Amino acid sequence: MNFETIAAQAAHQIDAATGAVAPPIYLSTTFERDADGEYSRGFVYSRSDNPNRRALEQCLAMLEGSAVAAAFGSGSAATAAVFQALAPGDHVIAPDDCYHGTSRMLREVFAPWGLETSFVNMTDVDSVSKAMQPNTRLIWVETPSNPLLKITDITRMAGIAHSAGARCACDNTWASPMLQRPFELGADLVVHSTTKYLSGHEDVTGGAVVSREDSEIFQRVRLIQNLCGAVPSPFDCWLALRGIRTLPARMPYHSANAGRLARFLQDNPKVSAVHYPGLPEHPGHDIAARQMSDFGGMLSFQVAGGRDAAMDVAARVRLFVRATSLGGTQSLIEHRASIEGPDSPTPDDLLRVSVGLENADDLIADLAQALG
Ligand SMILES: *Cc1c(COP(=O)(O)O)cnc(C)c1O
Repeated sequence: MNFETIAAQAAHQIDAATGAVAPPIYLSTTFERDADGEYSRGFVYSRSDNPNRRALEQCLAMLEGSAVAAAFGSGSAATAAVFQALAPGDHVIAPDDCYHGTSRMLREVFAPWGLETSFVNMTDVDSVSKAMQPNTRLIWVETPSNPLLKITDITRMAGIAHSAGARCACDNTWASPMLQRPFELGADLVVHSTTKYLSGHEDVTGGAVVSREDSEIFQRVRLIQNLCGAVPSPFDCWLALRGIRTLPARMPYHSANAGRLARFLQDNPKVSAVHYPGLPEHPGHDIAARQMSDFGGMLSFQVAGGRDAAMDVAARVRLFVRATSLGGTQSLIEHRASIEGPDSPTPDDLLRVSVGLENADDLIADLAQALG
């Protein structure tokens, strides 16, 4: 089945009891046991499994072209489950430019727990090979990266991992399974913040670990999901599935809008740099063109005049909303360094933009007046 068909039907079977076309929401926390002590209908307790969560997990696995998925209450909970599935004393290689919450989690939660991490510039393949250690168990990839839109070659990262008996996990949040297919490029695990493009409407927090196969590491993720319990509510699963239904209609529009904004910004004298992999000048453009079917709705740019000038632009926008997060229908703009805090590696003249589904001319006019 093709991607659009999977998404539009969101792995939904018509409700047998009522004929309902939209799926019912199963709020029940517990499920009836058979007289003989079995659970023939397959559900016991909602932390362990729930019909809405199972439908979301099946749909996510189908969308990524894989075997299995485990849904979590946030992208961060999904990320944590992957690291928890490793053992103290293991070593992870992660990008030096990755989602700030992921790098903080590795430094502030998993380092004290015993996980060792090397943060490297993954656009330099040799530096990844050099960072490999006998105890390296995982290469964590995030591409395009946050917030500099660096592009990492997934095939080469998976190759380095596999030649050492390690795994490769890819945070595919920014591209979505529509634009980037990490399993076809060799990744073993895919992680999503479903809060972003998959849900797509800025109204649900969620995450998932998707696995190429029902492997040992995935079985540990499943165990952690059940025993540690960072699970999404039935309504959150329902909302995520509702968003997924329109993913194939949204992603090309996000990408087209972002491409137009990137070209506008590139020509503006008040802008000193634009980071968007769809621009031929972007250092990762060739790899992105190979491993993505389009370049997505995220970009960042640097404002000539430094931090204050960047803050002024963010203060003057009218259509863009000054807010964190991404992937929804409304365009958001964010001064990233100040939200990441004093140890942030992000340039302080940088604004990150999540390009929404508004008319591109309106967005360009708003940025033009804000840049002055
Ligand atoms: C938002 C985000 C996360 C974290 O997801 P939450 O749902 O906010 O916990 C992880 N990775 C990337 C790339 C993100 O954009």
